[in-house]
Amino acid sequence: MAKLHRLRSTVGANNHCMMYRTIPIAMAAVALLAGCAGQTLTTSEPFRQPSIVQVDTWGGTVGTLPAAPQKIHRVTLHHQGETWKAGADVAKYLQRLQQWSRLTKRWADIPYHYVIAPDGQIYAARDIALSGDTNTEYDPSGHALVMLMGNFEEVQPTAAQLDATVQLVAWLVQKHRLDLSAIASHRDFSGQTVCPGKNFYALLRSGWLHEAVSAALRGVPYVSPAELSINPGY
Ligand SMILES: [Zn+2]
Repeated sequence: MAKLHRLRSTVGANNHCMMYRTIPIAMAAVALLAGCAGQTLTTSEPFRQPSIVQVDTWGGTVGTLPAAPQKIHRVTLHHQGETWKAGADVAKYLQRLQQWSRLTKRWADIPYHYVIAPDGQIYAARDIALSGDTNTEYDPSGHALVMLMGNFEEVQPTAAQLDATVQLVAWLVQKHRLDLSAIASHRDFSGQTVCPGKNFYALLRSGWLHEAVSAALRGVPYVSPAELSINPGY
């Protein structure tokens, strides 16, 4: 049986939140921060926004091409679909992706709203108030588009990436008042792609991601991706 994150919070004499964790996945602890002050986190309480590197920080620029405004009603997951070389410069990759999106595709910006690097760092991309873009036949308007770097037809998403995904998706679900059923992936809408890759898709298909997001929103432990026994063949 997979072990659960052993996380608990308590309130010190000075009312500062004290966190204890026994496994080295810092992002997993974020869910409990909002539950400090000795209360159980419920969906009526604001879920703590995870750390997000903003566009100007990674060297991105504001575009001039138009995009349609949108109201979020879904969260849709993608993978990069290209092999990510360990140690490569994420900021430079995002700068190139932004230029390619604008100059070659004539899109307003990077097609996704958030990008999650293998180390678990989340980067802001396209303004979430604006509809995303796609090379396939589905209509992404109203979708918050989240891309995890890497090719999950070939490799597994990292544990840090998956923990960051849980935190980001939980925050988006609460912020936009969505149901868990609003969480899906690219291939759920398009027959033209294997995105987000079979290894990541298996974690959606099994219900792991939905259960982890639900647990994070309730401030209770979830099965760590590091403890999962992933079957890439599902
Ligand atoms: Zn995709």
